Amino acid sequence: MKIVVVGAGAMGSLFGGLLAESGHAVTLVDVNAAHLLAIRAKGLHLQTDEGDRYIRGLRACLPSEASEPPELMLVFTKTLHTAAALAGVRHLIQPDTYVLSLQNGLGNVETLSQHVAPERVLIGVTTWPADLAGPGHIRSHGQGVVRMMAADGCDRPFVAAAAQALNECGLASTVDAAVWSSIWEKVAFNAALNSICAVSQCTVDELGQGDGQALAFAVVDEALAVAQAEGIHADVEACKAKVASAIAHHRGHKPSMLQDVLAGRPTEIEAINGAIVAHAQDHGIPVPCTRTLLQLVRLVQARGAASPPAA
Ligand code: NAD
Repeated sequence: MKIVVVGAGAMGSLFGGLLAESGHAVTLVDVNAAHLLAIRAKGLHLQTDEGDRYIRGLRACLPSEASEPPELMLVFTKTLHTAAALAGVRHLIQPDTYVLSLQNGLGNVETLSQHVAPERVLIGVTTWPADLAGPGHIRSHGQGVVRMMAADGCDRPFVAAAAQALNECGLASTVDAAVWSSIWEKVAFNAALNSICAVSQCTVDELGQGDGQALAFAVVDEALAVAQAEGIHADVEACKAKVASAIAHHRGHKPSMLQDVLAGRPTEIEAINGAIVAHAQDHGIPVPCTRTLLQLVRLVQARGAASPPAA
């Protein structure tokens, strides 16, 4: 399969690297010149439970340098960069190109549909983890899944082919008509843990102290009440169990939103807490904890400071 990965950071490089390793023609498209240079010079350095190796034969280039339209375009920018990234590769999107988002947050279908025919948009969610260890160097340990479907809900053979390609390279994937339940449960999980950690600068396990877990559960309740109002069945207790498990076991883990705040980068807060608040407004559902965390993360972002001001 000809595949272009747009946004080849931690997740894009992991997926692109594994797909290339299993024989697909993969082009990584990114704006991070140092990352691209390192991949071109030595190959993609991938450390997974399957081993530590360099994957060669991947093309890695800037958006303007990519020329061959793919069958599958995989979008893995942070959500706030999706629109600009798709504009940068619009010359690659042909009438028969499928575009898949496994990004976190809500609103991905709407953003993709501004650049791609709606029947070519694929949507999903993934629990595979990845970190960018340095230019050209990705680490991913542990297990995950991908759930995906055509965004318009139609049964399309290409979706099964894409899931099979991911399965064959070790990224356990299923075509799942109930993908929106998984998307909302992950949004609820992220709205709770990411935003609380970003504001408090606690690691995930530190939320086990004080009222951290109770606040996280309140956000899950709010987010999934909104999902319910949207007609999406989401499992509140299962989501809370995942939150509790993360707090119990993810010792020292800084969620991406906390990492972004500490680095002075904008976060995905608008696609997560922001989107929940917007949907809640449509249904007249109060979401005070989610809204307050949204406002606090916006405040922290606006300050752009990496650490609390000196006393
Ligand atoms: P990342 O920051 O590591 O990678 C994003 C990449 O997009 C960067 O390399 C950046 O240079 C690139 N980019 C930005 N603007 C661009 C543009 N205009 N054109 C091309 N490339 C551009 O982020 P990530 O951790 O890989 O996350 C990507 C998405 O996947 C996010 O929505 C995230 O929430 C989601 N996600 C991440 C994980 C994880 O473990 N990292 C797990 C599941 C889902």
